[in-house]
Amino acid sequence: MRHRIAPRTGTAFTLDKGQTLTVIDPSGEQVADLLAFKRADVHEVISSGRTLDYASRIYLTTGDKLYSNRSNVLLEIIADDVGRHDFLLTPCSKDTFRIIYGDTDPHRGCFGNLAIALAPYGVTEDMIPVAFNCFMNVPVDGTTGELRVDPPLSKAGDRVVFRAEADLVIGLTACSALQSNNGSFKPIDYQID
Ligand SMILES: [Zn+2]
Repeated sequence: MRHRIAPRTGTAFTLDKGQTLTVIDPSGEQVADLLAFKRADVHEVISSGRTLDYASRIYLTTGDKLYSNRSNVLLEIIADDVGRHDFLLTPCSKDTFRIIYGDTDPHRGCFGNLAIALAPYGVTEDMIPVAFNCFMNVPVDGTTGELRVDPPLSKAGDRVVFRAEADLVIGLTACSALQSNNGSFKPIDYQID
């Protein structure tokens, strides 16, 4: 069954070991922030630092594994239509919108949406790490290290598929940041098989 996450919202659900999660960009150029926690102990969570360290690359795609803060594999990418995702930048938040956009009444962003959705599973704000940002396009200047947030390369219907390597709690959003999504907020679809 295909589920839809409305623009600028998020959700959380369980994913069993061996199940697959397909994250779909139904309209194109829309980012989805993904978090995975070990269900048996939600203090174990995907780790950007460990994953990028072990991959020795910052752009992950089919065949790459997402490691936890305890160096266990939580998810493996088993299919990917786009090949450009970000695992460097933190979920957008009211502070992102205050500091980068200068908003005086900022939206809660992916961070706030994840915190609300994950609270029933025992996840608190301080337990939310860098998310795997599906479809987010962050090129890096190889000499200076300067980052840019460019429009996603995803087209309507593009997907990335993850296989669970443990029983997990997943947090997933339709990202709320204008810059990440080429200036408009769109839904994200997902499917569990
Ligand atoms: Zn976001």
